[in-house]
Amino acid sequence: MEQKTEKKEDDVIVKNEATDAVTSGNEKESATTEEHVLVELLSSVSIQSKPPTTPKSKPLSEPTIEEVAKGITDGTFKKIIVMTGAGISVAAGIPDFRTPGTGLYYNLQKYDLPFPEAVFEIRYFQQRPEPFYALAKEMWPSNYKPTITHHFIRLLEEKGVLLRNYTQNIDTLERQAGISPELLVEAHGSFGTTRCIKCKREVDQEWLREKVFRDEIPKCSDCEGLIKPDITFFGENLPERFHTLTHPDFQQCDLLFVIGTSLEVYPFASLVDRPKSDVPRVLINMEEVGPFESTKKDDCRDVKVLGDCQASVRELAKLLHWESELDELVHQGEVKFKSRRQMSRVEDSHEKNATLSEVIHSASTILGNSVPFGAVEAGQTESNIESAVSDYENKKPEH
Ligand SMILES: [Zn+2]
Repeated sequence: MEQKTEKKEDDVIVKNEATDAVTSGNEKESATTEEHVLVELLSSVSIQSKPPTTPKSKPLSEPTIEEVAKGITDGTFKKIIVMTGAGISVAAGIPDFRTPGTGLYYNLQKYDLPFPEAVFEIRYFQQRPEPFYALAKEMWPSNYKPTITHHFIRLLEEKGVLLRNYTQNIDTLERQAGISPELLVEAHGSFGTTRCIKCKREVDQEWLREKVFRDEIPKCSDCEGLIKPDITFFGENLPERFHTLTHPDFQQCDLLFVIGTSLEVYPFASLVDRPKSDVPRVLINMEEVGPFESTKKDDCRDVKVLGDCQASVRELAKLLHWESELDELVHQGEVKFKSRRQMSRVEDSHEKNATLSEVIHSASTILGNSVPFGAVEAGQTESNIESAVSDYENKKPEH
């Protein structure tokens, strides 16, 4: 009982932080908060009416990654939440663009921003959208491919143990790695969808890409409003999914991975404190961050794996005997990426047709299967080629 009261206080604190971090005085936001409180009350009522259950997870006998791997293998952990940040996409070549002083901000000097983060301020964007579009052009998602960590999360999904991936990243590499959208919370939005900031009409992403790459300012054909990807800017609310899913998710979660994040941006960072107190937390990061900075040596809850996260994740896959499956996903990712790049380079449709057969040929060659498209039998190979075909279909010019 005492425990329950304590939990509720935690939730309130987190919610306050969440409200602070987004625009205040917004009616929609307070309605969301009220709904959230109601959901919490209802869920606590239903918990009380049930007989007490034994905790699903028990603390680790040692705070080591080996123990964590053992728990995944023997089925102790089967509702895993993974929190990810910019650190997992660095290996893909995406700089941590939110950090002042990095290359991307440097390139914006000619726009004479009042302060670097202004590029992601909604009010500034409404006045001067050019710097954002210049940045968007440089970091457009199709320029990058998923990393080992993205593929590892996808593998957790395939194994049926991924409850949810909460990501701060807007690069859509999770989607590209094949993580199902329902298992994904893009806490700061993403390039995945695009809309008019005035009338909220959804716009085709490919249309926006063409405008951005031609250095044109994309405007809504209905209301002349600016078109922007659904990235959460400073001064905007976090996506609804973030608010509705965190409470039920973190109540169920039996293992938490925190990978490649500095845990500095709120309310995202506060999620680390939301699993039940006996749920192990694993930090895979270059350095200690957040609550992991004060972990005691005899603590059997928090596990720290410091160093390059790609190497650490590979090490973990090895302990799980998942290495060859991980390699296979990485390999398929390479093929998909190459197909997509080849297709996006081609402009006219005739050339596209010719390139399609080239892509299919090279895809099957890379996969060690040089048989012609129609004769391809292996499921994985076929799905790769299917995706090359659907990429082609999606990019077919409309005339
Ligand atoms: Zn509009």
